[in-house]
Amino acid sequence: MCGTCGCGQPETSNSRVIQIEQDIMADNKHHATRNRAYFAKHHIFTMNLVSSPGSGKTTLLEYSLPLLMKQFPVAVIEGDQHTEHDAQRIAKAGAKVTQINTGKVCHLDAHGIGHAVLDLDVADNSVLFIENVGNLVCPALFDLGENKRVVLVSVTEGDDKPIKYADMFVGADLLLINKMDLLPYVNFSVERCIDYAKQVNPTIETLCITANQADGLTPWLDWLRQQYCAIDETLTA
Ligand code: MG
Repeated sequence: MCGTCGCGQPETSNSRVIQIEQDIMADNKHHATRNRAYFAKHHIFTMNLVSSPGSGKTTLLEYSLPLLMKQFPVAVIEGDQHTEHDAQRIAKAGAKVTQINTGKVCHLDAHGIGHAVLDLDVADNSVLFIENVGNLVCPALFDLGENKRVVLVSVTEGDDKPIKYADMFVGADLLLINKMDLLPYVNFSVERCIDYAKQVNPTIETLCITANQADGLTPWLDWLRQQYCAIDETLTA
């Protein structure tokens, strides 16, 4: 049940629900635009990581950060409804990190991200990861001002996630299919998952990875470095 998406308000009239939703989305758009301008001014390349709970977002960061920090300043904003467990894991990996606990709310919003970026004092030219709350529905609605949205699906989930939760995939730049080491043991078709993703978003890029194995991360790290350089060239042009 979400405290801002309107899904928990059975006593409210339809017109009032619509007005509240419009106000929330307009406010979020305003803050997302401000965030995007801030990121551009400070050359901060920002990725919004989204997925179901347990798809491997935090593990992906734990294994990627030590490799990336050799090349770029890196910072992480963690989003969960409760606990600082993920921020503690990221801190152990050596990155600058802050945790946002959303309570009953099932997504991060642009206003909260703006404050977190200032609190973290994210360095110019950084790569900034935002790990969203595990949820394939509500985070799709909330632009955070990021440069790229990256959605993870693990092979232990259904391969039809892209078509069941299409909004999340329509707005994504990259689909990471994770836990490829488990593929022989589960009923998951990589081809079908990619086909569904392309049906809802023909331009989405797709990569297969195993987040907790160094050589399984190579396609993702190569993609990220290319995107960072492309953004940097755009900003300095
Ligand atoms: Mg996590």
